[in-house]
Amino acid sequence: MADKLLEIKDLSINYNTEMATVYAVNGLSLSLDYGETLGLVGETGAGKTTTCLSVMKLLPEGVGEIASGSIELDGVDIVKAHEDKMRELRGHTVSMIFQDPMSALNPVMTVGDQIAEVLHEHNPNMTREEVGKAVDNMMEMVGIPANRKVEYPHQFSGGMKQRIVIAIALVCRPKLILADEPTTALDVTIQAQMLGLIHELQVELNTAMILVTHDLGVVAQTCEKVAVMYAGECIEYGPCSAIFDSVGNLHPYTQGLFDAIPKLDSKARRLETIDGMMPDPTEKLQGCRFADRCKHATDKCKTAPQMKEVSEGHFVKCHLYD
Ligand code: SF4
Repeated sequence: MADKLLEIKDLSINYNTEMATVYAVNGLSLSLDYGETLGLVGETGAGKTTTCLSVMKLLPEGVGEIASGSIELDGVDIVKAHEDKMRELRGHTVSMIFQDPMSALNPVMTVGDQIAEVLHEHNPNMTREEVGKAVDNMMEMVGIPANRKVEYPHQFSGGMKQRIVIAIALVCRPKLILADEPTTALDVTIQAQMLGLIHELQVELNTAMILVTHDLGVVAQTCEKVAVMYAGECIEYGPCSAIFDSVGNLHPYTQGLFDAIPKLDSKARRLETIDGMMPDPTEKLQGCRFADRCKHATDKCKTAPQMKEVSEGHFVKCHLYD
């Protein structure tokens, strides 16, 4: 067993299109222990999904490219791994729960067959009866009666479809789940149920998880560590307890995210926002990528800040902490 389940070092990912090169992830470093939960937070376009896809080695072929850096998953070098090795790892060592259950499921296969397919792929020696039993078990675990396994995705509600997607992701008991905004397509009550279910199963199966979300409240409830991404970079990283206790003393972007959370006791007529937009991802910037939106920016910010440890295990990439 490797020391860490996942170790990403100095990872840079580009999308090479005919029009331009998009620098989607820039020098990202992260690590995750066995059984640990990490919340990956940031606005759309920050590079969260691209990071997850790179761990699965599912970047769009011919367009997405790991330009530099390394990803080690359970001791396997993902950047160098061949497709055969990746087929072995996907589903068995690492699984992904996608945002939209409608597009993640095959509309012309019964849900039972879709769960069974993953088992067959990774356990060719299992008998039909054993596979059938495991499918029934998994369906019950996600709260769907096993006798509904003969039905098709269109016969289920949105929340139930997402439960099936979770069942497919967990049926081989992977060491790592990448949950990419697993509740975004669901309404608020179902969201809470789904997060509760993912958390319960994760604890029961001792699976590590990277939870991609926009919602700091969800991170506080579900995760042990949090990484905040901005414009393809990780700008703050550490235990949830340290980051949530440091409000008022964080990276200016993370502070902006906290300030944007609606407060029930506030009389303000407008919600707080972070002014400005993320930088153009096709431009390679020299200094701090947040500088155009930061009210603390100085001349020093024209040079790129480095990660600094501000308290035990809590790292911030900002010149304010030099
Ligand atoms: Fe703001 Fe400068 Fe810190 Fe960037 S490095 S977040 S511009 S203070």
